[in-house]
Amino acid sequence: MTTEIYLDSNATSVVLPAAIAAATDAMGQRYGNPSSTHATGLKAKSILDQTRACAVRLLGVGDGRLMFNSGATEGIHTAVLSALVSLRERRAAGEAIGSLLVYGATEHKAVPESLAHWNRLLGLNLTLHKLPVDHDGAHSLPALREVAPQAAMVCTMAANNETGVISDLDGIAAALEGSKALWLVDCVQALGKLKLDLSSTRIDYAPFSGHKLYAPKGVGMLYVRAGAPFTPLITGGGQEGGLRSGTENMAGIAALGAVLSALERGDTFRGTAELCGFRARLADSLRAALPGVVFNNPFDKALPTTLNFAVPGLSSRELMDVFDAAEVRVSAGSACSSSKAAPSYVLDAMGLPLWRSAGAIRMSFGPLADEATIAAACERIARCGAALRASCLIPSERGAAPHDGLLQLGVEGACSWMVLDAASRSCIVIDPLPDHTARIESYVRCQNYQVQAIVSTLPNAGRDMLIEALGRHFNRHADADEYGWPRHAASIVLGNGAGASAIQLGEQVLACVPCGGGDELRAYLLGAPQEGRLPAAAVRFAFSARPALQVLGAVSAGHTLLCPTRDEHNQFCTIAEPLATLAADAQLDSGALDAFLQAHPDACLVDVREPYEFAATVAPAWAGRAALSVPLGRLAEYASAWLHAEQTPLVFFCRSGNRSLKAAQCLRRLGHRQAYSLNGGLALAGAAPAPLPLPLAA
Ligand code: PLP
Repeated sequence: MTTEIYLDSNATSVVLPAAIAAATDAMGQRYGNPSSTHATGLKAKSILDQTRACAVRLLGVGDGRLMFNSGATEGIHTAVLSALVSLRERRAAGEAIGSLLVYGATEHKAVPESLAHWNRLLGLNLTLHKLPVDHDGAHSLPALREVAPQAAMVCTMAANNETGVISDLDGIAAALEGSKALWLVDCVQALGKLKLDLSSTRIDYAPFSGHKLYAPKGVGMLYVRAGAPFTPLITGGGQEGGLRSGTENMAGIAALGAVLSALERGDTFRGTAELCGFRARLADSLRAALPGVVFNNPFDKALPTTLNFAVPGLSSRELMDVFDAAEVRVSAGSACSSSKAAPSYVLDAMGLPLWRSAGAIRMSFGPLADEATIAAACERIARCGAALRASCLIPSERGAAPHDGLLQLGVEGACSWMVLDAASRSCIVIDPLPDHTARIESYVRCQNYQVQAIVSTLPNAGRDMLIEALGRHFNRHADADEYGWPRHAASIVLGNGAGASAIQLGEQVLACVPCGGGDELRAYLLGAPQEGRLPAAAVRFAFSARPALQVLGAVSAGHTLLCPTRDEHNQFCTIAEPLATLAADAQLDSGALDAFLQAHPDACLVDVREPYEFAATVAPAWAGRAALSVPLGRLAEYASAWLHAEQTPLVFFCRSGNRSLKAAQCLRRLGHRQAYSLNGGLALAGAAPAPLPLPLAA
């Protein structure tokens, strides 16, 4: 049974059961080619005719043309090609056509890309002109009035896909009065949500995509006003009255027909008032779960089915991940790469600050949404809020349970390390990066730690910002040196007999080792001392900015984990003589997991997602197996324990298999022979194992 809650309907929607039935019928019973004149063909043709007739009534096509195609991108290209071919002909005939191809700043990329493409291919050399939008995302009508006389074509959307903001089509039409510009309105997000009566407007072209409203992907429609110029994008067998050749996608058209007739009957989809109620409930849940949440779209000017929001201090990646773990499918308001989300150009155009644009999440549902789904979504949102609070990502009244051991922050490129002692609630920060200031500060405050020292491996590294942010949570040493190291720390004898200065942290000490040779570099060693000595074998971790193996070799052991403060290749930690790993050896296919677990009852499932993802996970166990939460930032700590204990199989998993592969490879390099990554991650494996209570590392 799926526990997924799909709230990404502006990207695509589930397919209406009646549409699936219609598609099945079109493939099974009425499989003919609608161009054939025999009875089998005629049966198929009736699907085409009925769907078109329904669309014509519903959209107010009047005496205009309506053709089926593969979707809005094709429709946009057909419209732009048609307009630009006609403009070129008119210009060649000596007519003034204007110089601008105007498009709204928040249009879907298909629009400016198509304009640029055909402008170039047709050699028109017109100027693409981005029409600004106001703070609410509405097209600027004064700006449009200004450019209307020079506009050859104007492209605007009926409703925006990221924000749901509804365009003032009457206002745009009024601003275009007197202009000869051809007008395209992208109606993709409007279908089924806004009343359309196309032939009563001056709109020349209106593209649609079926999959935004419960039809399958790969089917769409294009409306062309009677008398508007038209050039086919695809010629051939003359289907669609010669407007769009190629044998029709009958399954798609039949499915679209089922959706359109449901829309026309008015008995399937919910009305605006109910949808507004659903949006209000989701918004209230978000406000309660995520303090400080701001909505990026004005509800009174947007479709009721779209929410777009950002949360101070949280990236869209983090929000996406926690929602995904809770099996609530939403999308980042912007295209996001592996770690950093690019700001959304739609929100940028609305003048929103960078944090809101780069941190945006879009939650969208369709008019088929029901009470139970919205109620379940609200519960999951609360669950996500609790998971983020427990992980110190958002403020919480109750202090979170303290972590113990080592924590690596910033797993890509440079990194900072924190050594935590839960018993004494004290910690040391090593090589803090300015980018991590807020994270370290909220982590320390939330778990009520006292920072004993902030030390660096190079002199004069900036610490002031973090010290200021930590306030009373930092123990100031008036006599700290240029590495942040207390000058009067106790001394300890290292494995090579040399004395070193050391800070006590619970049972362990952090000892400072100058790397010598006039080098300014320092390394730090962490381990449990034995009678005033820190023998090489007791050194669990060594921190350094660069591998200083010669120096470390004398004071640490082969199993000491070297923790770099640069980690471009996501190695997390290494040893003096790492083993080569082959990615394939470390991969376990999800289909083979059950058998693997049966064959290895002692295997440990390790979830390397972030703690908030782990905490938000709702799915039941994998054959009753519990999983241990070890986010990548904690891998070094756990690796040290796993390598010392008797080796049992470790099966790392994450959402997609990327993070877990890095973890498995790290363990293999360190000498663990039975570390595996679940290929394809939870996304392919189905349900996640039940979380284990968080144990502390040995
Ligand atoms: N226009 C808008 C507003 C959209 O939201 C989309 C799809 O996201 C498109 C155009 C392109 O539609 P398709 O990918 O179905 O061709």
